Amino acid sequence: MQNIENPATEKIIDAELSDRIASRLNALRETLPPSVKLVAVSKYTSVAAMRAAYAAGIRDFGESRIQEISQKQQELQDLPDITWHMIGHLQSNKVKQALSICDWIHSIDRLSLAQQCDRFIPELKRSPKLCLQVKLAHDPDKFGWEVEQLLADLPTLLQCQNLNLVGLMTILPLGLDETQAYQVFQDTAKLAEKLRSLGWTNITELSMGMSGDYAIAVKAGATLVRVGSRIFS
Ligand SMILES: *Cc1c(COP(=O)(O)O)cnc(C)c1O
Repeated sequence: MQNIENPATEKIIDAELSDRIASRLNALRETLPPSVKLVAVSKYTSVAAMRAAYAAGIRDFGESRIQEISQKQQELQDLPDITWHMIGHLQSNKVKQALSICDWIHSIDRLSLAQQCDRFIPELKRSPKLCLQVKLAHDPDKFGWEVEQLLADLPTLLQCQNLNLVGLMTILPLGLDETQAYQVFQDTAKLAEKLRSLGWTNITELSMGMSGDYAIAVKAGATLVRVGSRIFS
């Protein structure tokens, strides 16, 4: 990415970038059923690379920081049909902004955050799709609900009537083998089923699977995969 002074060089670099990202995306799409939504996680990448992904058909981008979404939205104003997915831990002081600028928030990871969203949504007149972040394997390094806590919080969550809750999101702990990974994804799918049977019929989306484990997640029923490095690195 040096030498951007020379327009000819810049074009060549852009063509290389575009080709690389397009071929990564083609390879990835061949392994994904058409019903699974691919969210291209762009948190470590430039807007130039995002433009290349956009040109190759990507409309869903995932970011883990609100500040970065805001900045990239400014720079990509000419691409108005992007769907912006917040996938990172959300601090309380960023909730209002997150609801204002994101189309999806995958990382509703605690009751207080859900309640805050519920309070702000009416005044913002904007209600992004939300996923509850859950942990089906114990993992002190990750945010999110363990099952028991979620079931305990369920009555309070059900009172948050402004929330557009559409699914569950999970991130695997490090170091699982393939069988264990499949088990955790499958348990997440079963939890969604249980929530539906308890009357939460809108919980149909399963946001699970990243570059290293998306194929396993798809086998277990993922409806969205969040893939970054396999596209952009
Ligand atoms: C970074 C990130 C991803 C993408 O990870 P890759 O391994 O680069 O595909 C997916 N989900 C979340 C929550 C992330 O933070």
